[in-house]
Amino acid sequence: MKTWREECAVFGAWNHEEAARLAYLGLYAMQHRGQESAGIVSLHAGEHRVHKGLGLVVDVFKEPELCELKGRVSIGHVRYSTTGENRIVNAQPMVAGLLNGPVAIAHNGNLVNAKIIRKKLQAQGAIFQGTNDTECVLHLISHISSDDFVTSVKSVLPQLEGAFSFVFLSHREMVCVRDRYGFRPLVLGKKKNDQGEDAWVVASETCAFDLIDAQYVREIEPGEIFWVDEKGAHSEKWTHSIHSAKCVFEHVYFSRPDSVVFGQSVYESRKAFGRWLAKESGVAADVVIPVPDSGVPAAIGYSAESGIPFEFGIIRNHYVGRTFIQPHQSVRDIGVKIKLNPQRAVLSGKKVIVVDDSLVRGTTSQKIVRLIRQAGAKEIHVRIASPPTVGPCYYGVDTPQKSQLIAAHQSLEEIRAFIEADSLAYLSLDGLFSAVGEGREEGRENNALKNKEKSYCAACFNGEYPTPLFE
Ligand code: AMP
Repeated sequence: MKTWREECAVFGAWNHEEAARLAYLGLYAMQHRGQESAGIVSLHAGEHRVHKGLGLVVDVFKEPELCELKGRVSIGHVRYSTTGENRIVNAQPMVAGLLNGPVAIAHNGNLVNAKIIRKKLQAQGAIFQGTNDTECVLHLISHISSDDFVTSVKSVLPQLEGAFSFVFLSHREMVCVRDRYGFRPLVLGKKKNDQGEDAWVVASETCAFDLIDAQYVREIEPGEIFWVDEKGAHSEKWTHSIHSAKCVFEHVYFSRPDSVVFGQSVYESRKAFGRWLAKESGVAADVVIPVPDSGVPAAIGYSAESGIPFEFGIIRNHYVGRTFIQPHQSVRDIGVKIKLNPQRAVLSGKKVIVVDDSLVRGTTSQKIVRLIRQAGAKEIHVRIASPPTVGPCYYGVDTPQKSQLIAAHQSLEEIRAFIEADSLAYLSLDGLFSAVGEGREEGRENNALKNKEKSYCAACFNGEYPTPLFE
């Protein structure tokens, strides 16, 4: 099934004299969620001003572009897509001139029924500019005759299936929506403006608020529509059919460790993944090292639980750019080497536990194990701080097709042999859920939790998809 898999971040600021600059900074803080395009739309004198481009936030926006984005309201977006559709027409926020005024939309997530909606709309004569699922939402809204934008959005939402954290900007309001499952995060914050009034801010992750000195207020809830207009802030449930399925992979890999996601510190969850992993799959060794950066908190947790010292055995070059010119054939595994360099001083003659956040195709682990062995390690024990990745994500995280997921086709022993490690262990599903406060262990202590339905989606690890999947 071809999907429009996308990883993204959204941002919004309402009633602030530097709205576009706040968006710029917020997106900058969330650059890890998408590096292929960036965009900001502001509202000035009832009209939208738009600037979008391919590339990083710092490359797309310079002083002149930010000066043009006048107004006290703005929304923004960064995007990453691997489907070969990195075209400017797919960059967000997407803007449209509807009968009742201009509308801009920024979307994090993926609509699983977008193809069906798109075909239906095309059959009715709709013309699409790009290939992403978000454009469907604008078309659906344009078919609603209400002149109240919030009413129009509310009547469209029940037609959408899948993952969506939306920020809309009309000429009168900023509207924030989360799907009924709450797959992707969306948080609300506040900041004082130059007149001492409250300015509302909304973002995919709380790390955006830290950079702009905004206070975290709360999450936008699954199934909630929140909007701000001249009269103030409003909130409603747009649906009563709510089935919490927050993406556990946000905690495993995707979010920044300094963010609070779904009410829990990502750093703390990752440390807990490492602790559980050490409890489940301890092994005698001299040193615990992370694959930087994503494996660092889990390795700290593993080391704390096992009592085996933590060291940086691999150093990451943070300045690796896309324009790097590679030698044609004289250096093997250059891709991983330019980024990661093993330290002989830490590794030589040692029994080493290497902790990474996840193993997807297995090729990265294989290269890392080879590098560590070349640096003189005596034994290499790979520990993965999440369960085997067995299914693709249809809700907005870019995972390869099932055919490329090594754990979907090979046994633990086969994977161990492929990555050339002396031993390999993954975190169990129970350990994963326990670390985010939903495990059987907690259930034993707390009857309320024992019978509680899991509120996380872990489809990439257990194959249980919370929504229908459409062909
Ligand atoms: P591989 O097993 O070679 O496919 O790569 C696994 C590595 O990719 C892990 O170290 C993760 O940190 C990283 N990773 C996992 N999921 C993603 C993703 N959705 N986007 C980018 N990198 C990822």
